[in-house]
Amino acid sequence: MNNMLQYWPLLLVDSGCVMPYIVALSGGIASGKTTVANLFAQLGVPIIDADVIARQVVAPGTLALAEIVRHFSQEILLANGQLDRSQLRELIFHNDHERLWLNHLLHPLIQQETTKAIAAQHNAPYLLWVIPLLVENNLMHFANSILVIDVSPEQQLERLILRDHIDADLATKMVLSQTSNQKRLACADQIIKNEGDLADLAAQVDRLHHYYLALARSAAEREPQ
Ligand code: ATP
Repeated sequence: MNNMLQYWPLLLVDSGCVMPYIVALSGGIASGKTTVANLFAQLGVPIIDADVIARQVVAPGTLALAEIVRHFSQEILLANGQLDRSQLRELIFHNDHERLWLNHLLHPLIQQETTKAIAAQHNAPYLLWVIPLLVENNLMHFANSILVIDVSPEQQLERLILRDHIDADLATKMVLSQTSNQKRLACADQIIKNEGDLADLAAQVDRLHHYYLALARSAAEREPQ
């Protein structure tokens, strides 16, 4: 997976597109990525959501979904024709060969769609790329700045349980299955502490927005014309 992703920046350079300044937003499950992205969006910042793109490339009618059905059989579809993502996750979890096959199919498509989505925002001073698996997939070099949400394990669990109506055991398993927050924080250029209320979060986003505008401006000034 990581081998293929290494070529992603080259793809961007080769495309000859003018790229806006890219701020990658990452954080653990229920850390507040969607909430933070919505606050940036309210300030007019374009949002590119990696999860949305990953779903788009396997939507009904796509060649990728047809390939997946040919490979795994019709059983991989839900009754409504959508990909059964949890079944697929199960299938590739313990099978390196299948996981590699799927990565080879999907990663170039995801890269292509992400590049297109980013290039389409070339008039924006900067954009927010919401990428939960930034560190797991070793994509840090693709962003100009990395913003990580930090939240205490207690608060993360409490918000996850409340939002998804699940019990503490399942919530703990979900949190533990992810990269540790320490690893994510070690890659951060900026950190949002999401331990206060929404007004506190909005104030942090507002400050960061002005900071990123300034960073993007000076990066643009350094670019050769
Ligand atoms: P996922 O990893 O599952 O995509 P996420 O990182 O996008 O989750 P959110 O859905 O934004 O996280 O937030 C998780 C829950 O916590 C939501 O119910 C959200 O409303 C709530 N929440 C986030 N930040 C705050 C806050 N500062 N105050 C109160 N509630 C919050």
